[in-house]
Amino acid sequence: MADLLLEGVSIAGVSSCHLRRSTRAKRMRIEVRADRSLLIVIPSGTREDQWLTFVLSKRLWIERSLKKSAGQRPGRTKADTGFPTTIDLLCMQQQYEVICNKGTQNISAIVAETLELTCKTTSERKLFLNLRKWLMRQARDEFTERLDEISRATGLEWNKLSIRGQKTRWGSCSVQGNISLNFKMLFLPSDLVNHVLLHELVHTREMNHSRRFWGLMKQFDPECDLHRAELRRAGHLLPDWTVKI
Ligand SMILES: [Zn+2]
Repeated sequence: MADLLLEGVSIAGVSSCHLRRSTRAKRMRIEVRADRSLLIVIPSGTREDQWLTFVLSKRLWIERSLKKSAGQRPGRTKADTGFPTTIDLLCMQQQYEVICNKGTQNISAIVAETLELTCKTTSERKLFLNLRKWLMRQARDEFTERLDEISRATGLEWNKLSIRGQKTRWGSCSVQGNISLNFKMLFLPSDLVNHVLLHELVHTREMNHSRRFWGLMKQFDPECDLHRAELRRAGHLLPDWTVKI
């Protein structure tokens, strides 16, 4: 489906704005792409005033994402591996301030766009452990929904999902159709995450990287080559502190 180029929406630093109506999308989402363009994906049937309100409500996030991607070119910033004060889940366009409290139990909760981590001891190691658990839960919910969505669209079935935090891989798939995904993909753009999920789902049919495998990939993702190239450079999108979790 061709994306509609929007002339009326202007946000600082955005090169162009595209609208895609999708019968598969369950909720509205925005992707900030490497060429500084915006892709707005909306469920078919969404009214213009609804998605315009949504886009405008994400204005700050969009501007921050653009700044961040400009500042995060390799070698430009100093590593900051301290405990984060904000979390930006690019994949879901969600941002949270992070507040740490000392309490009798280890709990994580979202209160009005703030992630409140309560730990028995607020050592940095414990805080990172708690944060990791919370991220893994977000990843499980988000990736399960997306796998189901892609599965319905492609007819590729999957069995079980496990969430990991591997250093060197985004995902893997076993012969039994068990898929394992890296929760750190929460920090990648939505379309790259879908590309990885599709890759693992295609493995349920082709357990190798043969010509048939790539044929299927291209059939389901016409932008497969672009996504593959972007994914190779995606490691720098991870916040520096993720080396600690
Ligand atoms: Zn593979």
